[in-house]
Amino acid sequence: MNQYNFPTIILSGQGALAEFVHRLTVKNYQRVFVVTDAILKACGVLGKLTSLLDAHQVAFSVFAETHPNPIEEDVTKGTAAFKATRCDSIIALGGGSPMDAAKAIKIMAANEPPLAQYDDAIGGDRLIKEPMPPLYAIPTTAGTGSEVGRSAVIISSTTGKKAIYFHPDLLPDMAVLEPELTVGLPPHITAATGVDAFVHCLEAYFAPGFHPIADGIALQGLELVLDWLPRAVEDGRNLDARERMLIAATMGAAAFQKGLGMIHSLAHPLSSRCNMHHGLANALLMPAAISFIENANLDTDQRNRVKRVQALFSDRGYPSGGLAEMCRQFIENLGIAPGLLNHSVLGKDLESLAQEALEDPCHQANMIPVELADLLSVYKAAL
Ligand SMILES: [Zn+2]
Repeated sequence: MNQYNFPTIILSGQGALAEFVHRLTVKNYQRVFVVTDAILKACGVLGKLTSLLDAHQVAFSVFAETHPNPIEEDVTKGTAAFKATRCDSIIALGGGSPMDAAKAIKIMAANEPPLAQYDDAIGGDRLIKEPMPPLYAIPTTAGTGSEVGRSAVIISSTTGKKAIYFHPDLLPDMAVLEPELTVGLPPHITAATGVDAFVHCLEAYFAPGFHPIADGIALQGLELVLDWLPRAVEDGRNLDARERMLIAATMGAAAFQKGLGMIHSLAHPLSSRCNMHHGLANALLMPAAISFIENANLDTDQRNRVKRVQALFSDRGYPSGGLAEMCRQFIENLGIAPGLLNHSVLGKDLESLAQEALEDPCHQANMIPVELADLLSVYKAAL
């Protein structure tokens, strides 16, 4: 028996934001709590939402203090502000970070402190009992797919480490994919976040397990990224490309409930230790990791999956060759300089990074099992 989970209501395309605010008006919330960050406030993206809320006379309060990697203090402050302003619903506006903070504020708005007791690693999800305020998610990047995710990552104030908070009810009540909100992203961020969406689809499709629904979503997501990411990078104002990339990112996250793989395990330490952008880390590691998989002793189904993705590249004019080489060309065409050394990673750090990658759970769903030496060899090949 299997349980398959599907994402939430998704409003997608030009006008999605206006339609969402229109729908809010009939909910009769007392006051909506908007969780975002200082950059989105400064660059005017927040203003696009708040002017619509004003126009529709929806009362709101703004909390724009979330850090790029949200910390427990963001949640404490945000929850206090949520309660002080008597809000009864939440809008998360931003990339993965404001979404994570908003999800944790949602928990703490209804449940007793401290936050740490709800840590998924200690089975804390079972203690999240009270009905929580509704949450609406508006992504401003096309990559993480957090808008259809059910977990939040917050840095603990006691341990300094990332803690994961998971609960089915953290899935936003609605995801609003408005392409207009992503037009200001610079090409290198568009490329990096887009590759993250690609790797979500790729690793989900390669993950073992019978999940034809995730497989189908993943394959279609890969096609969308291959077709539209280069155009979004080339012309940030191409709203069709922005729209396709937003839905591809959402699809990537819907697909990776099946699992991720070694690329994500290798990428995570590069972000936590070297402060590298998550999507960029995936991009730099993907060709070497795929080469490792391609050269392994794969069974027929695994080999067919590799061929199927290769065919998506071939259909788009990539010269025939290994999948790793196709991925390398794709990354290069997006303007991403290959090589970890070019991005301030030092060769002497690879062994400890590999140890950390081994401790990361994502590779447990890799197409083939990996050991410490395998992870190290991929880091070296990507150097
Ligand atoms: Zn990712």
